[in-house]
Amino acid sequence: MKKIVYFRSKCIGCSVCALQAPNIWQMDKTDGKAQLLDAEFKKDNYFRMLWPDELETMKQIEQTCPTRAIQLL
Ligand code: SF4
Repeated sequence: MKKIVYFRSKCIGCSVCALQAPNIWQMDKTDGKAQLLDAEFKKDNYFRMLWPDELETMKQIEQTCPTRAIQLL
């Protein structure tokens, strides 16, 4: 199973991820950056398991994020 890795420090708050997959991403009202829901925080980055039915949407988001803050491993 793949994982989403989110490098939050790279986020510029464009909202693309939250608009495309609001069940996975939400915008943080305090600093305007994206929040990866149900994520685990390790070594300054966020990790979350990627379910098979989320894969295609997350591939598009990975390609669309302007700062490459999101990677699928
Ligand atoms: S698409 Fe990338 S830069 Fe835009 S809000 Fe999401 S993580 Fe941040």
